[in-house]
Amino acid sequence: MDIAQEYRTRVTDMVHRSPRAVSVRFERPPGFSYLAGQFMFIELKRGTETLTRHLTISSSPTEPFLEVTKGLTGHPFADALAALVPGDEATVRGPYGIFTLDARDEDVVFISGGIGVTPLRSMARYATDTRLLTRITLLYSARTEEEILFGKEFDELQRTNPLFSAHVTVTQPAPGWTGHVGRIDRAFVEKVVPDVRGRGFYVSGPPALVDAVTAILREMGVADDRVRHEYFPGY
Ligand SMILES: Cc1cc2nc3c(=O)[nH]c(=O)nc-3n(C[C@H](O)[C@H](O)[C@H](O)COP(=O)(O)OP(=O)(O)OC[C@H]3O[C@@H](n4cnc5c(N)ncnc54)[C@H](O)[C@@H]3O)c2cc1C
Repeated sequence: MDIAQEYRTRVTDMVHRSPRAVSVRFERPPGFSYLAGQFMFIELKRGTETLTRHLTISSSPTEPFLEVTKGLTGHPFADALAALVPGDEATVRGPYGIFTLDARDEDVVFISGGIGVTPLRSMARYATDTRLLTRITLLYSARTEEEILFGKEFDELQRTNPLFSAHVTVTQPAPGWTGHVGRIDRAFVEKVVPDVRGRGFYVSGPPALVDAVTAILREMGVADDRVRHEYFPGY
C-alpha cells in the first residue's frame, strides 16, 4: 500500500555534523508515519526554481521531528539545503522505500561508508528506543575522524543498548587516531564478523562501496537473500 503523501513543513533546527554534511530537522507533520530506514523527497524553492532530491529520513520514528542528513557536494540542492534557517518552509513527500529493519532478524550487521550511514542511524536509534531484541553490529567507514557522522551518538547507543556495537574505520587518519585504519575490506569484515551464519546484512552507501561489500559477503559465503542494499548515487 502506498501511504506516501505530500506535506508542507518548516525547518526547526540545523545540525552541522561534519565539514561535509549537515542535518536539517523539520516539524513532523501530523500523520507522517514512516519506518526506520525509509526516505522522502524534499522540494526547496530557489527563486523561480524548484529543487528536488530524495534523502533518507535519518531520524527515527521514535523521535518527534523529521531529520535528513545531506552530503555537501557544492551543487545547487545541497547549497540550498545547507542555507536553510529555522522557520523556512519546505515540501516533503513520503515515506518511500523498503530498506527497513526486519524485526524478525535477530542478529544483523550494518555496513556503510560516508553519508550512507543515515538509514542505519535511523534503524539503530529505533531499535534502541523500542528495546528491540535485535543484535546490531555496525561497520562504518569515514574518510577522516572529523567526517565520522553520528560518532558521539553511536558511542551513546553502545552504552545504553547492550545489543549494539559500532566499529569505525578511517581511511585518512590524522596523527593520534587509535582506531581502525583503511577501507571496509574482507579482513575488516572477518575481524568484526568472524561468523556470518544466521545473520542479516544491511549495506548502504555510494554504489562502489555497496558493490564492493556485496562481493566480499558473497566470497564469505553469505547468500544473496541475506543482504539488503541501499544505493546512494551522486557521490
Ligand atoms: C534511496 C536513497 C536515499 C538517499 N539518501 C541520501 C541521504 O540520506 N543523504 C544524501 O546526502 N544523499 C542521499 N541520497 C542521494 C541523493 O538523492 C543525491 O543523489 C545526492 O545527495 C547528490 O545530490 P546533489 O544535489 O548534492 O548532487 P547532484 O547535483 O545531483 O550531482 C550528483 C552527481 O550527478 C552529476 N550530475 C549532476 N547534474 C548532471 C547532469 N546534468 N549531467 C550529468 N551529470 C550530472 C554530478 O556531477 C554528480 O556527480 C539518496 C539516494 C537514494 C536513491
